[in-house]
Amino acid sequence: MKAAVIGAGWAGLAAAVALREAGAKVTVFEAGHTPGGRARRVFHGEFDTPLDNGQHLLSGAYRHTLALMRRVGRNPDALLMRRPLRLASLDGRFRLSAPRLPAPLHLAVAVLGARGLSWSDRFGMLRLMRGLKAMSWAPPRDWTVLQLLRHYAQSDTLIRQLWDPLCLAALNTPTAQACAGLYARVLRDSLGGRREASDLLLPCTDLSALWPDAAARHLTMRYGSTVRQLQPSQDGVVVNQERFDAAVLAVPPAFAARLLDEPLREAGAGGLLDALKSFDYLPIATLNLRLAGSWRLPEPMMMLREDPARGHLGQWLFDRARLVGDDKTGELAVVASAAVGVAERNRQPVIEALIDQVAEQAARHPARLPPLPEIRAAELFIEKRATFAAVPGLTRPLNTTPWRALALAGDWTDTGYPGVLEGAVMSGLAAARTLNPRAV
Ligand SMILES: Cc1cc2nc3c(=O)[nH]c(=O)nc-3n(C[C@H](O)[C@H](O)[C@H](O)COP(=O)(O)OP(=O)(O)OC[C@H]3O[C@@H](n4cnc5c(N)ncnc54)[C@H](O)[C@@H]3O)c2cc1C
Repeated sequence: MKAAVIGAGWAGLAAAVALREAGAKVTVFEAGHTPGGRARRVFHGEFDTPLDNGQHLLSGAYRHTLALMRRVGRNPDALLMRRPLRLASLDGRFRLSAPRLPAPLHLAVAVLGARGLSWSDRFGMLRLMRGLKAMSWAPPRDWTVLQLLRHYAQSDTLIRQLWDPLCLAALNTPTAQACAGLYARVLRDSLGGRREASDLLLPCTDLSALWPDAAARHLTMRYGSTVRQLQPSQDGVVVNQERFDAAVLAVPPAFAARLLDEPLREAGAGGLLDALKSFDYLPIATLNLRLAGSWRLPEPMMMLREDPARGHLGQWLFDRARLVGDDKTGELAVVASAAVGVAERNRQPVIEALIDQVAEQAARHPARLPPLPEIRAAELFIEKRATFAAVPGLTRPLNTTPWRALALAGDWTDTGYPGVLEGAVMSGLAAARTLNPRAV
């Protein structure tokens, strides 16, 4: 089979690997110049090692992603720093740490031993987890996360301290708008599963080097090659005037809608076209900082306290120098999810406020951290359409299309997950399977 994959994000590359392993000759069309899509390497002159277009975090529950890394010869144990679930705020006021005990004991001990929570909040957390389990992790379809949290009487402190930042990290959507069902699914697979599933996996290389580079080496890659024409039929797909036996369209839904507008209308599949057009998107901002000297954080990833009125928009801080094993330098990444409106603001004040947030909260840490060293370089990446808004009632397309020869892939397809890497990989594998049942 001669197959085309359009889009070299994690979804498209997963599909390409599976199709190739099943014997297809695969050509990947990618508009950009780096494999990885929204999770890719970016070079920057003022930083010694490559950056990413945005700091990412994986979890022990990402089993399809971890298995795929191994399939292309990459060792997740060497490339990802695996840490037991530990959420600690930079100001030292909050800490939740799961011991290496079998599930669900690890979680119970973590919750009961959490610092910065009242006993009533600790029991409140356990009540929520028990309640979700009792409803088979499937809250009513139209509930927001905030409704779910209120239903289980979670206090404002607990929501602000824990559930808000976790929801932003997993769904990139604030609790007041986010879909309770998707949140429950993430909690089920991470906190409700085996202990290892709740581990945090922090990339020790750039995101393209994790596995997309290795996958691309075995594929025919056409970089800088934007697909502008797509003509699907039952027994083949014409891509930019070149015929393939089958194709996977693994681009964001708005682009898929543009490419398939006419064919879908002609096929009477207006419902799918509407679904492709119906997504809203939310941004994520990542501030990369190169410091004048080494500055070790107590944890490689720490929570930040938000104060939007002061521009303190970050929720997470990553010690990137520690992740790449560099003891001599200091490099940080500050992540601000659902950073609505940031792209429209003047960059310099946004950067300064985020640096101020880090310096101020570090100064409060009880372990008396040394002051933040001088900043040598600061680069703010803003992905305006980082993920789709994970709101209730979304109609997410399946991998199939009206044509046997064309499949859809992307984190936005009906994966059961929000817009995350694991969902992207799962969708790519599923798309490959719809074209060739031997592709797994
Ligand atoms: C800043 C940021 C932080 C994130 N943090 C996390 C995190 O911590 N954990 C997590 O799990 N997920 C995170 N995500 C989400 C994760 O990155 C995405 O879910 C995942 O990368 C989506 O992959 P995809 O293959 O579905 O789509 P994309 O990565 O968008 O891939 C689509 C590809 O198609 C290409 N393309 C588009 N149109 C065309 C065309 N016409 N012709 C050819 N090529 C085309 C694009 O260039 C792109 O490479 C984050 C995302 C961002 C942006």
